[in-house]
Amino acid sequence: VQAVRSASAGAALHPRVGDLSYPKVALNQCTKCKRCTVECPFGAIDEDEQTYPIVNSTRCRRCGTCMGACPVRAISFDNYSVDMLSSMIKAVKIPDEFSGKPRILIMACENDAIPALDMAGIKRNQWSAHVRIVPVRCLGSVSLLCISDALSVGYDGVMMMGCKPGDDYQCHFVKGSAMAAERLSKVGETLKSMMLEPERVTQAEASIADADRLPQVIDAFVEQITAIGFNPFKGF
Ligand code: SF4
Ligand code: SF4
Repeated sequence: VQAVRSASAGAALHPRVGDLSYPKVALNQCTKCKRCTVECPFGAIDEDEQTYPIVNSTRCRRCGTCMGACPVRAISFDNYSVDMLSSMIKAVKIPDEFSGKPRILIMACENDAIPALDMAGIKRNQWSAHVRIVPVRCLGSVSLLCISDALSVGYDGVMMMGCKPGDDYQCHFVKGSAMAAERLSKVGETLKSMMLEPERVTQAEASIADADRLPQVIDAFVEQITAIGFNPFKGF
């Protein structure tokens, strides 16, 4: 029904089809590095005559992967930005190390992970109370800057929860979760240089049918982080 209605209106059918906000590039911040162009799953970023990125609104599906790719926070939407995600992350109360309670952040894709967690809640499935969940458009829209912000304010672990990447992908934006996995594969060395264990940051696959499995995945991660110990940046 949705497909027929959208096609008859000349609109594409994709998860954010009703959202007509497009990514905006702050040219005064842009370094012309082209990460956004490389990572856009839909080839929706062209160049203007000065080689700055320019979004082709007929191809853009508003996934936010370009926003997650940009190393200098130069891309944002009117209703979604790296700063908005960081503000949500920083608004959570972080228990101090004397409380004995870790604080774990889950950045969960709104397409499959959030509905699966909703269903888990409806089924009264339970998971650790130490977890806080921030919904995101797609894992591709999560900047590594959000993860470093989370660790620097004292979260003990960060889980990115989203659709399956790879050749048999289930990502609603084709390669958003694959791009997130590629970025995450490079954070290990950065974490080590900060004297943090690479295991504090992980990516978990979720499908919409995982309401019974996800609580176990979350609890296993909380247990792993508890065994590693508190984030040494906590309290600074
Ligand atoms: S990455 Fe997504 S939001 Fe950015 S230009 Fe491409 S389709 Fe649009
Ligand atoms: S990723 Fe950011 S800095 Fe690089 S070209 Fe795109 S907007 Fe500019």
